Amino acid sequence: MNKHYRIDTNVIHTENKPDPDYGVVSTPIYPAVAYAFKDTDTASSVVSGEKNGIYYGRYGNPTNRRLERKVAQMEGGDDAIAVSSGMAAISISLLGVLQHGDHVLVTRDVYGGTFSFLSNLAPRFGIEYDYVDLTDIENIKGYIKENTKAVYIETPSNPRLTILDIDAIASICQYKNLKLIVDNTFMSPILQKPLKLGADIVVHSATKYINGHGDVLAGLVVGSKEEIKFMRKNIMGDLGQCLSAYDSYQILRGIKTLSIRMKKHCENAQKIAVYLEDHPMVESVYYPGLQSHKGHGLANKQMKDMGGIISFELKSNQYEEIGKDFIDSLRLAMISFSLGDPETLVQHPASMTHYSIPSKDLPKYGLSKSLIRLSVGLEDVDDIINDLAQAFKKIELKFNKVK
Ligand SMILES: *Cc1c(COP(=O)(O)O)cnc(C)c1O
Repeated sequence: MNKHYRIDTNVIHTENKPDPDYGVVSTPIYPAVAYAFKDTDTASSVVSGEKNGIYYGRYGNPTNRRLERKVAQMEGGDDAIAVSSGMAAISISLLGVLQHGDHVLVTRDVYGGTFSFLSNLAPRFGIEYDYVDLTDIENIKGYIKENTKAVYIETPSNPRLTILDIDAIASICQYKNLKLIVDNTFMSPILQKPLKLGADIVVHSATKYINGHGDVLAGLVVGSKEEIKFMRKNIMGDLGQCLSAYDSYQILRGIKTLSIRMKKHCENAQKIAVYLEDHPMVESVYYPGLQSHKGHGLANKQMKDMGGIISFELKSNQYEEIGKDFIDSLRLAMISFSLGDPETLVQHPASMTHYSIPSKDLPKYGLSKSLIRLSVGLEDVDDIINDLAQAFKKIELKFNKVK
């Protein structure tokens, strides 16, 4: 990262050196597993960690190293590891800071995979957790136990876009000697830098905005040199959650347009959020860029812009299946579980990402059947709005018929 350049420049140029043999500008793909050493002593000092270097493909490769260094610098961290998925990054970060008998406080509306990992696998390793509403930071003090070692948060959260105060939570964590882990997937390092606000570890699903093209599964963990070294050798290395060089190359290519993509995602999302808020068939819109959003002030303070995800609720007194019908009426937006792609993607949390929650329990999680999540794409915003408008018309007709 060059201090004299701004982020739009650094996102392209950081770790993007031409290769020494031919001056190739794009990063070469090194599908390397085997490395040759000049003698056994050198090999031995690399494997023992005395000397820097890579000795086997499961611990990394030179293409991944470029990606890791680049994202570490963009997040303002010491080092990073690139791993095989966002869930690999999340499980590695938790296993990295927690041991048997430890306890972690987790934000209530956490990503489904994280929820599943904590419910099903973590207890088998003696890891305890509690879900806490961290919009009230006093809750940390209320729920902290003798064996609490970490706090795990996501902000903005999925799907309600709840904003948590990273700086305030980090201060309590420092005071109580807890590690703070932040899932920064929705923001990317362009829009939010949790480490600068006091967090210890940042995780990403690089599958989403960082790669940005819906064709790679990958994750990143950013943290201190020591933490990353342990995670690389003893977690990623031993569990084998490594990323292929080819995938790294794709992400390095995608990341060059991250800044410009995020700008367009945010610009489109802001306009769509305003359009939705004004629509008579919409009950509520969750987008931190709206004045009406509970976390608007805080979002302005800690985020550079508001991101590309909007959730909204239709007035469901019309009929129960209105949310699904609306989604099925869209023509441009594609029904998909993913987010952060050039295409506008839409999903119905109650029957898709959160399908395992029984209907009667939906309100407990702040969900309803009329809630819709939109990952606003890079298309012309008027085309996205026209698509929404024609879907509103269709369900209005249907409603008038059932009436
Ligand atoms: C998608 C996602 C993940 C999981 O990432 P994968 O790459 O699918 O494993 C984690 N956190 C958030 C916020 C996500 O959106």
